[in-house]
Amino acid sequence: MSDLIKISALDYVRKVRSGETTAAEFLHKTLERVRDVEPKLHSYLLLCDDAVARAEEIDKRIRTGQKVGRCLGMPISLKDNLCVKGKRTTCGSRMLESYVASYDATVVKRLRAEDAIFVGKTNMDEFAMGLTTEFSAFGATRNPWNADFVPGGSSGGSAAATAAFECVASLGSDTGGSVRNPASFCSVVGYKPTYGLISRYGLVSYANSVEQVGPITRTVSDAAFLLNLIAGRDENDNTTVDDGGVDYLEGIDDGNAMNGMRVGVIREMMGQDTDSPVAAATMRAVSDLEQMGATCEEISMDMISYSVAAYYVITAAEAESNLARYDNLRYGYDLRMDGYELKAYTEEARKKFGPEVARRLIVGGFVSSSGHAGRYYLKALKVKNKLTREMGDVLAKYDVLIAPTVPIVPFRIGEKSDDPVGLFMVDLNTVTANLTGRPSISVPYAISEEGLPMGVQLISDVMQDKLLLRAARALETRVSLPEVPL
Ligand code: GLN
Repeated sequence: MSDLIKISALDYVRKVRSGETTAAEFLHKTLERVRDVEPKLHSYLLLCDDAVARAEEIDKRIRTGQKVGRCLGMPISLKDNLCVKGKRTTCGSRMLESYVASYDATVVKRLRAEDAIFVGKTNMDEFAMGLTTEFSAFGATRNPWNADFVPGGSSGGSAAATAAFECVASLGSDTGGSVRNPASFCSVVGYKPTYGLISRYGLVSYANSVEQVGPITRTVSDAAFLLNLIAGRDENDNTTVDDGGVDYLEGIDDGNAMNGMRVGVIREMMGQDTDSPVAAATMRAVSDLEQMGATCEEISMDMISYSVAAYYVITAAEAESNLARYDNLRYGYDLRMDGYELKAYTEEARKKFGPEVARRLIVGGFVSSSGHAGRYYLKALKVKNKLTREMGDVLAKYDVLIAPTVPIVPFRIGEKSDDPVGLFMVDLNTVTANLTGRPSISVPYAISEEGLPMGVQLISDVMQDKLLLRAARALETRVSLPEVPL
């Protein structure tokens, strides 16, 4: 592999600007790498066939001194639930295997305007339901650190591709941890912004009230760089907020960022079910923060013990409503591909949903039905409200909260795929940020004795993304991790 492609997004920009490399050369080397490792990893569901032409066109503009966007032809990959005009967008599902998007998602449009190049669409758990990428209808993605292990999910393809140098950075989506969890498992940075900071227009909906698009990058500064390009108000998504044009990169390298910061260590996210190397990595991060001048204290949040239950009730109910559009008339599997003469609504076509999605739809219909909503859906909403209030109280006293991103180290492919409830519990540390709308980031922090990565998660208050990124950058300076052995 060429060393050139191992650089960060910011270094890419510097090198192209200084003429050390060109968009076409870099893309060519990246595509060589993709060809070498894809048979082993399966990070991609689709490679964009217009990428090379785009790179040449951008290089030409650079050469002739014309206007070029801030990405200068940077190869970026996109989770396959983000719409790109004219490209297949499958969401990892048979249901959408022939769906070609007719418009660009807002994040795609903004990156395109900055002259990013889309390498391809990355593999994911079907409709983003899962956390191992094993629930993709098109086969599992493997962990670049050890191909027998899961890469995390549901944005597992994005994290594996970024970790294995198959792109410079990626965009995933995080409904309950799907950006942070695979980032932790693959030793890259995964960042879920404040709810509303990034437009969801053109992100295929799973559970709208909690999900956000988020960058997966090699460095914290790269996440801030991408945020600068895609954040802010979008009139196509009324949940978006105007951030006033904050520059998230400015001051990110401030060596004193942690000085005087108050940090809460969340007890409920480091209980007896936490693997000991994971707890040890987090405690090391805590002492690193203290050495940088932060005050760290253990804190407790009672409502966290109900968070996973509430999360799965709310998201199943929203999924059941969102996925009703796949009625095979407007959206969904077109039975004419199987020899039928007409488009038609049939139970046959609904069977194109895989078993995990089908399970969520059954649960979602039940918990929100008129006879049961009071006991399940409305109760889950109460938990969400109480958890949000509790989070508000804690963040009035602390600037940043810290916990392991995932309570356990990466596990083997197949090890938990038959244990849906066991899998749900792996989300314990990530769902709280989604349910409360708070920004959260996973920073790679350690490698286990078996050679598997672990991340540490920071959470801050709503619209404190800049502070969060600064803290994460400070933490990042404390570790130096080995390169992926692939
Ligand atoms: N594992 C969680 C779920 O299945 C989170 C997935 C996500 O963030 N998209 O719902």
